[in-house]
Amino acid sequence: MLQATTTKTNPALAELAETNLETLVGNTPLLQLQRITRHLPAAVRIFAKLEWHNPSGSIKDRAALFVLRAALQAGELGRGRVLLDSTSGNMGIAYATLAAARGIAVKLCVPENASRERIAVLRALGASLVLTDAAEGSDGAILKARELAAAEPERYFYADQYNNPASWHAHYHTTGPEIIAQSNGQVTHLVAGLGTAGTMVGTGRYLKQYSADIALVAVQPDAAFHGIEGWKHMASSIQPGIYDAALPDKQVAVRTEDALLATRRLAKEEGLFVGISAGAATVAALQLAATMQAGHIVVIFPDSGYKYLSDRMWQPQPAGL
Ligand code: PMP
Repeated sequence: MLQATTTKTNPALAELAETNLETLVGNTPLLQLQRITRHLPAAVRIFAKLEWHNPSGSIKDRAALFVLRAALQAGELGRGRVLLDSTSGNMGIAYATLAAARGIAVKLCVPENASRERIAVLRALGASLVLTDAAEGSDGAILKARELAAAEPERYFYADQYNNPASWHAHYHTTGPEIIAQSNGQVTHLVAGLGTAGTMVGTGRYLKQYSADIALVAVQPDAAFHGIEGWKHMASSIQPGIYDAALPDKQVAVRTEDALLATRRLAKEEGLFVGISAGAATVAALQLAATMQAGHIVVIFPDSGYKYLSDRMWQPQPAGL
């Protein structure tokens, strides 16, 4: 589903040709949820886009691929330059994965409280890490990356996922068209959480262009201090430059406790071992579905639960949870 590259046939642009690994990005399954939706009218259906099927295990492969390609095309990477960015995890793993396959070096500013699994994976992929103060969260990592980029502009290509238009272009060119094709154009609602907002902005713009009747539901944590990894509470964070607050038809806030419950239910009732942001998006999708008589909701499941195994949420729970 990715744009066909013409670069393969153009020797002058040979370094842009897709690596074999990159051909695996995108074209993720769209799966109808069956058991946690049993209470809904039959005409209300919820489909999940299973993004851990990407090579590095999350939706961020799409954005990382487009960021990497745009930089190579513009001559900003290559010749030993290092790709630099801040990330709380998935985007870093995606950069490190795709860059390893191209022999490009990667340096990442990561909050020191990122899960042990993530830090281990990033190191395994050869990324060099700068750990930043946990108390400053993802904003602290952003500020550190800006500082490094400003100090040595020749050494680094600062990918700046929060402001790089390639982050949303990826979803405009891949996630959006995939959803239309896989739903036979039947999708009525998109539900997606906001991190950089690349998923919502890119997919949302494509779906709106396909049909202005498709409703876009953006989901955020309900508070500045929350446990929904990968999401941002916009009002209290540095605003991503690519975010377009006017695009979504509706904004929904989800409590971390509700997201945890939904994440556990997805594992136990649907056999889907997902990350907490997928659970959080499911809370919003179920709330929306409860107000509908008919419709075809597509909800984005950004990653699986494996990177979060050391998290409190997968420790033994009291019966019933
Ligand atoms: N969920 C997870 C687990 C993520 O890592 C991210 C990316 N930060 C998101 C959701 C949000 O995606 P986006 O950056 O495209 O808004």
